Amino acid sequence: MVPFAQVALPLPLRHTFTYRVPDALSARIEPGVPVEVPFRGRARRGVVVEWTATSDREDALDLSAVLGPPLFDAHLLQLTRWMAEYYLAPWGEVLAAALPGGPSGMPASRGRKSAAGIEERALALPLPEPFTLTPEQRAASHALETSVRRRAFAPILLHGVTASGKTEVYLRGAAAARDTGGQTLVLVPEVALGSQLVREFRRRFRNRVGVLHSYLGIAERRRNWELARRGALDVVVGARSAVFAPLPKLRLIVVDEEHEPAYKQNEQLRYHGRDTAVRRAQMLGIAVVLGSATPSLESLANARRGKYAHLVLSRRVDRRPMPQVRIVDLRREGGTSQLSLPLRAALAERLARGEQVVLFLNRRGHSHHVQCRACGFVPRCPWCDIALTLHLVPRAWRCHYCDHDAAAAAACPACGSRLLRYSGAGTQRAERELRATVPAARLLRLDTDVARAGGTDEVLERFGSGAADVLLGTQMVAKGLDFPRVTLVGVLDADVALHLPDFRAAERTFQLLVQVSGRSGRGSRAGEVLVQTSTPEHPAIAAAVAHDDRAFVERELAERKEAGYPPHARLVTLLFSGADALEVERAATRAAEMLRQEAESAGVRVLGPAPQPLARLRGKHRWHVMLKGPRGAEVRRHAARALDWAESTERPRGVRVVADVDPVDVL
Ligand SMILES: [Zn+2]
Ligand SMILES: [Zn+2]
Repeated sequence: MVPFAQVALPLPLRHTFTYRVPDALSARIEPGVPVEVPFRGRARRGVVVEWTATSDREDALDLSAVLGPPLFDAHLLQLTRWMAEYYLAPWGEVLAAALPGGPSGMPASRGRKSAAGIEERALALPLPEPFTLTPEQRAASHALETSVRRRAFAPILLHGVTASGKTEVYLRGAAAARDTGGQTLVLVPEVALGSQLVREFRRRFRNRVGVLHSYLGIAERRRNWELARRGALDVVVGARSAVFAPLPKLRLIVVDEEHEPAYKQNEQLRYHGRDTAVRRAQMLGIAVVLGSATPSLESLANARRGKYAHLVLSRRVDRRPMPQVRIVDLRREGGTSQLSLPLRAALAERLARGEQVVLFLNRRGHSHHVQCRACGFVPRCPWCDIALTLHLVPRAWRCHYCDHDAAAAAACPACGSRLLRYSGAGTQRAERELRATVPAARLLRLDTDVARAGGTDEVLERFGSGAADVLLGTQMVAKGLDFPRVTLVGVLDADVALHLPDFRAAERTFQLLVQVSGRSGRGSRAGEVLVQTSTPEHPAIAAAVAHDDRAFVERELAERKEAGYPPHARLVTLLFSGADALEVERAATRAAEMLRQEAESAGVRVLGPAPQPLARLRGKHRWHVMLKGPRGAEVRRHAARALDWAESTERPRGVRVVADVDPVDVL
């Protein structure tokens, strides 16, 4: 009997392929090995996921080559299979994404590089006691250590205000894992080598910590990958894709800043790193701790339902007070300056005292919402409760969930003012204004342009060393930075995030304001936060100012329930893209029509089709259809029908269709 192998190929087809295994190769075939196979007249690389003694595919072709030892163990095959099923993605694409360096990490025919010559000195280090734990830290550490030792699935939400010492709790959990011979995986939204978290883990675990960093280059990442796989690392720290790190003795997973949208990958394989981490912990029967000062509503809902344990750190370490937050009402300021008079005054005061200032420009992606500068009015969709987006051709305000449209007014429908503006000025304009206002201040800018050029660590390092007075940046400055000399944080426009056409806009705004406020007053001097806004009465802003997350969460959960959004419902968006605008629109329309009747009779609503806010991106036209319903499996089942159609022989020509399960960023 000739055995057959099931091979997952990184192609946009959601099934595996059967190949015959030649006798000469059969000794080296096992699940997880990379292979080369002929596919439609071309040589393709894929991964064997299963092998069987028989097959009904009599015409199966022969496997061409085995490219090396297994890349995936049984557990990682199981995890990636779950992802393929859950995220409605081809298994081969999931496996490709799981390699260090992504799809390009697949070994070539000549075989993979050996990892010889890597030192494996185990250092037994005592755990230093840098300071006394707060009673809350002690209780949380104890609970986490107990869960790690118990070796059963234990999802834990660690809900600690900014500067409450969550890192110390993670470190103790990791030490408990290490002491029982286990490994810890630490996921962070973005790896900043200079971040406090990486520094602390390195200090405690020395060379038993491996950092998986995209700037490291593929050789270095593969080396750490190999060390992790051989059990030579106690702790692996990395961003989203580190969730795939091969850790044979994994005992604890930490997801820091679990609410961060950066955990969701929005291209190629659309998966959520946090949710995948929780599933991985469940499969292995281990502890997973999700840490945040501002947990996502999904995680809070899980804690309320008793699915997650809920550990709370309500106080800052060293009895430091929470920063004082003040509102600057832009409606009373007039003009279009990004620096109000109160902010200018506060800025001058800090500079005179030699203290540092962080200025935050809340700009994410492209903002196209309209807001009245006089009264704060923003047009919203009456059906979907999200901000309407300005479209230029034809000129209209449109909802990009359901395609509802309204005539674009020249004057404010609420107050008649003609100060309707299109929101969202960039960091560069803010920088020019700052330089003109405080010419003597030493200024650093941190935004996506700087990050793309690889300058993030350098900017943070210079600011941390006191080489600058003011750090101006986008949401990157809100994340986990710890600069004791910062006593003023200014939020230049809190409304930009609030009116993104996204049902999570209020949650995101609340989180950003709390996080960015948390950068102030982390040292011995008290901190202050100034929030510039045209809608100070909005619940997200009012709650952030009052440090009252309970009030905000209650209200927001009730509104999500009312409008049928997560965590009370599940969403899948189907994304259509292609070069021909008409074909893309036609495919989206056909898919929506095909799904609607059967889906809606099963309680799944089909919204759209609608053009995406950035309908044309890199020469591609983009439309989407949104499915929502109370049960995730049911919503995914209907989305899968559309994908089956898109993969069938009657598929639309020149249009790519992909699913985004549990979408996070719908721009
Ligand atoms: Zn108005
Ligand atoms: Zn709508």
